Amino acid sequence: MSQKKTETGTGGLENIVAGVRRDRELREKTYRERALKLFPHVCGKCGREFTGRKLKELTVHHRDHDHENNPPDGSNWELLCMYCHDNEHSRHLDAEWYGAETPGGEQQLSSVHKPFEGLEALLKIKKPPLP
Ligand SMILES: [Zn+2]
Ligand SMILES: [Zn+2]
Repeated sequence: MSQKKTETGTGGLENIVAGVRRDRELREKTYRERALKLFPHVCGKCGREFTGRKLKELTVHHRDHDHENNPPDGSNWELLCMYCHDNEHSRHLDAEWYGAETPGGEQQLSSVHKPFEGLEALLKIKKPPLP
């Protein structure tokens, strides 16, 4: 009876990295879930209510902007909708919002709309014909 679970050397680091990532995701996911259990699903700024599928638009804001400060009573958390949350952070450009990279916790609004991008291209093509 000498059956041991042997770990192959390859892929070890990958596992560690994946573990750390999962850890972080889990932690961020948990505080959000805890916050959602503690507070009514209402944006603390605009007062909109979020239910069902819309609930994912409700994010957890850290009042002191410290991601690591997650007291169990939720005193550092505030539920904000994505718009109000973005608004809150555009006033203080800090790492809490922009450093977040996990879905479910703080969400990144990385889609920057460029409404004039197409127009610019059109203008370049439409050169007036030379006489
Ligand atoms: Zn809001
Ligand atoms: Zn925040």
